[in-house]
Amino acid sequence: METGGSLAQAIRKPTLTPKAIIHQRFGSNASYTVKEVEEPAQNECPGLAILQKGPCLYRCTLELPDFTVVSDSFKKKKDAEQSAAQMALEKLGIKPSADSPTAEEAWRELIARVKYIFSNEFLSALHPLSSHFKAALRRIGDANGSVPASVIAICDGKPNNLCKIINPTVESHPFLVLSYIMRAAAGLQELVVSPEERLSIWRKDPYPPDVIESSMSQQSNVAECITIMAIYIPCSPEKAVEPVVLNISTTGYYLDVIAQKLGLSDGNMVLISRTIGKASSETRFYFEAPKSYLLDMSSDLLNAKVVTLGGPLNARATYICGQDIYGDSILASIGYTWKGQDLFYEDVTLQSYYRMLISKTPNGVYKLSREAILAAELPLTFTTKTNWKGSFPREILSSFCRQYRLSEPVFCISDSPLKASLELSKSNKKPEVPETAEQEGGYANGNGAVDSKSGGFGSSFTCEVKIYSRCQDLILECAPNILYKKQNDAVQGVSLKVLSWLNAFFKDTAMPLEKQKQLANVFGIKFCPQNFSKEVVQCASVYNCRQNDTLGGKDPESYDVVENDLSSVNIEGPESGLCPSGGSLLCVSYSVSLVTKGELQKELLESIEEFEFEMGTGAVIPCLEVVVSQMSVGQSACFYRELPPEDSVLAAAKDSENALAFLSLPCCLEYSIILLRVTEPPEDRMEQALFSPPLSKQRVEYAVRQIKESCVTSLVDFGCGSGSLLESLLEYPTSLETIAGVDISQKSLSRAAKVLHSKLVMKSDPDAPCKSIKSAVLYDGSITDFDSRLRGFDLGTCLEVIEHMEEDQACLFGDIVLSSFRPRILIVSTPNYEYNVILQKSTLTSQEDDPEEKIQSQSCKFRNHDHKFEWTREQFKHWASELAVRYNYNVEFSGVGGAADQEPGYASQIAVFRRGILPKDDGHGEHEDSACHYKAIWEWNRSKPPLTN
Ligand code: SAH
Ligand code: MG
Repeated sequence: METGGSLAQAIRKPTLTPKAIIHQRFGSNASYTVKEVEEPAQNECPGLAILQKGPCLYRCTLELPDFTVVSDSFKKKKDAEQSAAQMALEKLGIKPSADSPTAEEAWRELIARVKYIFSNEFLSALHPLSSHFKAALRRIGDANGSVPASVIAICDGKPNNLCKIINPTVESHPFLVLSYIMRAAAGLQELVVSPEERLSIWRKDPYPPDVIESSMSQQSNVAECITIMAIYIPCSPEKAVEPVVLNISTTGYYLDVIAQKLGLSDGNMVLISRTIGKASSETRFYFEAPKSYLLDMSSDLLNAKVVTLGGPLNARATYICGQDIYGDSILASIGYTWKGQDLFYEDVTLQSYYRMLISKTPNGVYKLSREAILAAELPLTFTTKTNWKGSFPREILSSFCRQYRLSEPVFCISDSPLKASLELSKSNKKPEVPETAEQEGGYANGNGAVDSKSGGFGSSFTCEVKIYSRCQDLILECAPNILYKKQNDAVQGVSLKVLSWLNAFFKDTAMPLEKQKQLANVFGIKFCPQNFSKEVVQCASVYNCRQNDTLGGKDPESYDVVENDLSSVNIEGPESGLCPSGGSLLCVSYSVSLVTKGELQKELLESIEEFEFEMGTGAVIPCLEVVVSQMSVGQSACFYRELPPEDSVLAAAKDSENALAFLSLPCCLEYSIILLRVTEPPEDRMEQALFSPPLSKQRVEYAVRQIKESCVTSLVDFGCGSGSLLESLLEYPTSLETIAGVDISQKSLSRAAKVLHSKLVMKSDPDAPCKSIKSAVLYDGSITDFDSRLRGFDLGTCLEVIEHMEEDQACLFGDIVLSSFRPRILIVSTPNYEYNVILQKSTLTSQEDDPEEKIQSQSCKFRNHDHKFEWTREQFKHWASELAVRYNYNVEFSGVGGAADQEPGYASQIAVFRRGILPKDDGHGEHEDSACHYKAIWEWNRSKPPLTN
């Protein structure tokens, strides 16, 4: 017998692990959850209130359709999983046997099984199927005592497994099991089978009365009628999905009630799908058995040909289920389980239907895991484990593969040695920077990736992933050229690449193949269109098929929808100065409502008290991020947005009926947000946590000391960022009269402008320490360009900026500033690379919860993902000394955080350049003419009112 490859071989393999056996039996119906257990370690110190944390231990919960087991705790996750699988096997009475039965043996076993389930003995067995048998005995009329074959197929795992041995195509044609069961029953003298399209089996001789009596007594006798909500999914995609109510009396059989709703005379004609969603759920599709569903009964058993099921395919149900569903269908959560004799049931609402639908996309899974369907988006970059909120990319990718019945993704991590990473950066294939990276101080290329030049410090990892179909055909592979410091980050990073590509596909399911390929290229993905599962492609017809109709009647332009004009957003509350920047972790509280035109009616859809996300990674819908970037902590804002796809609105809406009523009117979404907290990127966190006063404050104080000592009247801050130095300067009495700031980040500059505006204009207190200041100006420009308006200022500062530029640009800045701007004094600060060891020991490791990661982060890295380099004391001295000599300056070295005479020196190293007294100016005045390369974006003069643009 040709059994079709790997499956049959795997069955015969004698060395299967418990997990592998469970997988064979249950496939994706087996769900493993591994959790870390807090095992309190023995407290060595009696009376110590805080328990010391022992080593990490894991416990695994394995959920199977009929029961759940929990393993002991283990040091390794995979041991916990194997142990749980072993426990489940023991419970199922399965001994890992060296040999599986042959097809003939399986067929004989199937006949015996069918015979057994119709025995007297089985009626009182504790088995979900026996509850069906009892319910069948309560059926009235012709159907009395007859058992639908479909319930045997879904409630009893044994026939399924046996059928897979008899005919491996059962794997992809699960309804074939029915044919084998019917055929096995037909061969048994004590059973009667119905004619073709009525799929039922009953006993020739009824059960003896005492058997019936004793089995019935086990059931509780609450004679109530139950009412549950289910969902009707018409076959025609034009027809709306609607709720239906199932009224089931205790004496009736629920399958007959469902049949009736499908317009069928009784439950014997109903087919039942596999379960959907959680492994423990009883949510299934019910639909009419197509006329030609059976195997050709006359054919030879072992070479039986598959007769494809007839009738029109129900695209929506088929897509959600991953199994072919024909005709109109009902989605209901009801059934007999192992948990007890009584019927289990739950409502399936429209909301749950739409949640199932959106959870088929990676973005949907992410949104649902965060309970933020209308605010969250799957981020485009993975920075660190601590910054990522919601399900991790790897989990989402695995769950995607499970949903689409693909094999688990296969990851391959390579530890790329120093050489490889250097070669990488030399050749043109530089490790890439995600497109989302922003020109923003802090975290620009924050993807957890390693900067090319840091290849020299510690090891780094790349990871590739391959995704195969169940039959091990390669579907796609992704091998991005990105180096990561940690193995875990590499795995998450590559998973996210694949997810982002899949998402792009789901956003535009009608995308032509050419475009799909182009996109794949962008994400570094190679894929095989033929193998890109039929099920994945099928979704095109499913998403939003009603959306276009409903939108047709609307005129989105008639609202003040902000999508295009977010600058007009109304932000309320006082500016606190605590503002988000790229890489910050933000915490907001928000609510989203559907509002009709003119805001006459409102329906709340979603609200979250505390919602955290990382700025600059695309973790929220774009307009939310744009609005939040203009806010400071404590402020609130409200804005409107055009309706997103109807699927997501209905997945969020608790009251679908109301929501649908709104959707039939012209309406949009109203977002109300409050910015609760901002946590800065790691560098800032660390600077605040480890130094008192914080390192940034110490830098400012250092600059202020220089200003006071040198009696300067004008200052320019090169790379002023959000204006933290300029702002602080206003708090000290100094001799300063003119201050200026230059930066290339418009976002930072606008924040700086806000801050200066509120300090100088709003609170123009005549006794303020900054009363000496006569003018202030902010310029948008690159400090590697000269601008004559800033020539000859008394003092220039450039704090923690050069490391954000490429090294050659930093050198260029040095040349320009000393040759052309020629301030009397120039203060340049930059991190001391040698100090990082100390920082890592104290903070970074304590943030990581995974012991494996701890080791990874020991290897040195930069303090901030946006840093292009960090110099040792030696490197910094070399740069500064050469520069000083070239342009006739003196230079002295100093720093803040730590001490000069104690290894490894200061945390921030500082060079103070002082212009030499030599009057020989020739050769240093190349920019005599008035070059104006900067754009003034904010300007203030004490005499004149402020000028803004
Ligand atoms: N000096 C500030 C900000 C440091 S962050 C402080 O100490 O708080 C680094 C800043 O340098 C960012 O705001 C970034 O936009 C700016 N920057 C980087 N390259 C620049 C360039 N070529 N010209 C001007 N600013 C630059
Ligand atoms: Mg920096």
